Amino acid sequence: MASRQPTLSIDLKAVQENLAVIRSMVGPAVDVSAVVKSDAYGLGLERMVGPLFEVGCKSFFVADLGEAERLRRKLSRVDIVVLSGIRRSDADAYRSRRFIAVCSSPVEVSVANSAEVAYAMNLETGFGRLGLRFDEVRTIVHSDLAPPAFVMSHLACADDPESRRNGLQRDRFIGMCEMLAPAIPRSLVASAGVSLGADYHFDRVRIGSALYGLNNAGLDPNPFVPVVRLSAWLIDVRQVHRGESVGYMGTFRAERPTRLGIVAIGYRHGLAWLVANRLVAEFGGYLAPVVGRVSMEYCAIDLTDIPAALARAGGRVDFISPTRPVEWMARSASTVAQELLVRIGGGCSRRYHMQFGAPS
Ligand SMILES: *Cc1c(COP(=O)(O)O)cnc(C)c1O
Repeated sequence: MASRQPTLSIDLKAVQENLAVIRSMVGPAVDVSAVVKSDAYGLGLERMVGPLFEVGCKSFFVADLGEAERLRRKLSRVDIVVLSGIRRSDADAYRSRRFIAVCSSPVEVSVANSAEVAYAMNLETGFGRLGLRFDEVRTIVHSDLAPPAFVMSHLACADDPESRRNGLQRDRFIGMCEMLAPAIPRSLVASAGVSLGADYHFDRVRIGSALYGLNNAGLDPNPFVPVVRLSAWLIDVRQVHRGESVGYMGTFRAERPTRLGIVAIGYRHGLAWLVANRLVAEFGGYLAPVVGRVSMEYCAIDLTDIPAALARAGGRVDFISPTRPVEWMARSASTVAQELLVRIGGGCSRRYHMQFGAPS
């Protein structure tokens, strides 16, 4: 056992396949941009962008200037769109490295303009976060500022295809775009919005989650290929008497003589504290419930129903696998899959390969 760190295995081939799935959903007329913000959702920006570029992805969205610089060092010719906007002090970096700034206020638009930086207009259509309002867009359009490279907005409720807010936001988006020249490309949706249909796709979709194998809209059957696998070392196996409790605050009490496994993964690796007594891991093909609280470096699993010969320290316990998707863990942690992925990716050692079972 060289390292007892839990391992997040990342299948780069599956990421390429998921890009192809999205392309087939939107058709050839729609550009598919990859969203690699937050270190590619915790999976590692530098490792992710090469395989995407290889299969023809030419535009990428990042969170901030730091990520934009990291990406530019890997790929010199692609479009890099920076979601966090632009400040005057960043203007030189944007211009010299040809970054595109997403502008959400008139001030940002004017900073981009005076620095001769290409920009995207982010419109507020109902998300209620950042974005230009109707009157602000009108003012910009009637000024002598340069037009945007493209215009975008973001749906608040795309995960719920029944939500009326999706149509409302789309209609507002169309209405606001009417103030702009018709040739300016438009972009409204992220992963979940793709399945709302062609009248949501416009010229460009911005895809993060789906590339990483997440099925935010709960499509059934799930068209996306699983990308990540999380496993951790079983470092000890011990017997617990009936009536004994396990872990901090004794939140699990053995109702039978229990064979307990101690696993080297805890909340510092991104395993959510809330999965205690809720998540079921897998060991040697058997179910192994997480029992007692998750601590910083460890958690415990119940191995009582696993054949004694199998339940030995040194094996690997699976927490995320093709049969136990990230969404599964997210539900037992009362969170969304994206949050889990970002935390686990940041907390575990990552291994990359081009197909499951073939580490590199
Ligand atoms: C994060 C983000 C995306 C990608 O979202 P997914 O649902 O993960 O595909 C797209 N657009 C904007 C503005 C974002 O912030």
